[in-house]
Amino acid sequence: MAGQKPHINLVTIGHVDHGKSTLVGRLLFEHGEIPQHIIDDYKKQADEKGKATFEFAWVMDRYKEERERGVTIDLSHRKFETDKYYFTIIDAPGHRDFVKNMITGTSQADAAMLVISAREGEGIMAQTREHAFLAKTLGVQQIIVLANKMDSVQPPYSEKRFTEVKGEIEKFMASVGYRNFPIIPISGYKGDNITKKSENMKWYSGPTLLEALESLKVPEKPTNKPLRLPVQDVYSITGIGTVPVGRVETGIIKPGDKVIFMPANKQGEVKSVEMHHESLPQAEPGDNVGFNVRGIAKNDVKRGDVCGPVNAPPTVAKSFTAQIVVLNHPSVIAVGYKPVFHVHTTQVACRFEELVKTINPKDGTTKENNPQFIKTGDIAVVKVVPDKPLVIEKVAEFPQLGRFAIRDMGQTVAAGLCQEVETK
Ligand code: GDP
Repeated sequence: MAGQKPHINLVTIGHVDHGKSTLVGRLLFEHGEIPQHIIDDYKKQADEKGKATFEFAWVMDRYKEERERGVTIDLSHRKFETDKYYFTIIDAPGHRDFVKNMITGTSQADAAMLVISAREGEGIMAQTREHAFLAKTLGVQQIIVLANKMDSVQPPYSEKRFTEVKGEIEKFMASVGYRNFPIIPISGYKGDNITKKSENMKWYSGPTLLEALESLKVPEKPTNKPLRLPVQDVYSITGIGTVPVGRVETGIIKPGDKVIFMPANKQGEVKSVEMHHESLPQAEPGDNVGFNVRGIAKNDVKRGDVCGPVNAPPTVAKSFTAQIVVLNHPSVIAVGYKPVFHVHTTQVACRFEELVKTINPKDGTTKENNPQFIKTGDIAVVKVVPDKPLVIEKVAEFPQLGRFAIRDMGQTVAAGLCQEVETK
């Protein structure tokens, strides 16, 4: 698909039961690549049940039922396409490895759809807060808010109820740090304002979900920054030499470049750059490449090293200060705790050296200086010391190299962003 429409990764977030799966189902059925045999199968079942029309609501019920029974409806590629873009819907928070994947770049979302039920007594709930804050912390820049279930507010499709919910949403989102985003009244179940303007909400003059998706901005490629290329693997190829492999995160790489690998501290010259077995004049952010480097032996570099220009080498941290969100820890975290940090392609144990402060999620102010411990739900600034040399960058300079997940006992305990790096 390279060279065709731009690609955007979307994540669906929101409180449980507010309608995320229903919405995704609706989008995929209206725009996605649902295998024809599944649609045929549903049509056949609908006919047998004497349903004259192929109703979406009925299909959704079947879809949901089968999902609940764990029957495979293989929507694994979760792709859909609009006039402008290709979209991939990636797993939502709550899924165990979501946070880790977001951070390590396996599934970095470019935009989020936040689903909030507009029903009386629902609105902004615990997970709404958690997910919105996580999205912001993990660097999801663009967001579309969906006031869902408008078909079942009182009275149905009430403008008054939407205005109420919209006010709450605006206040909440400002506290998270999102500005200038659409809030769309929808029914994922009935299909209002998804791809067609709703006949039931003539009072609404804003975009449909589809229009909002088409108005998203394509993420910019950070080509003007120094090269950062975390190494995934290193091969030694007969007749060619040493070939590290990885994804360009920032900058460009091309033959003739003098590069350095850190923390290995090995230098060489790029001889060739390849992607999909084709030689490239240069590679850009997002490109997965293999590149032959003269002056480097296979054992000189390994997974977790980061390649950069000799005159602007990747930063090796003696310690670093980070803002973290504790997502899931069975007890409390105190100074001395030493879990594994997953940063770009590497995993390094880091010791909590100092709990600097906890932060008020509502307004970002300091809650407590030097707390004794931090626990699930807390946002904190901490100073940590890696067990061995580690390349990590300030998120303000290299967002892709400043994010990390903290894992312990097979779970993602926390996620965070590197704010300062101390090199001595
Ligand atoms: P999730 O947990 O956020 O993925 O929520 P689901 O998509 O599983 O939906 C939870 C429940 O809300 C299900 O019973 C859905 O049928 C219902 N639901 C979802 N969207 C709508 C909607 O737009 N209108 C109404 N009336 N019900 C909805």
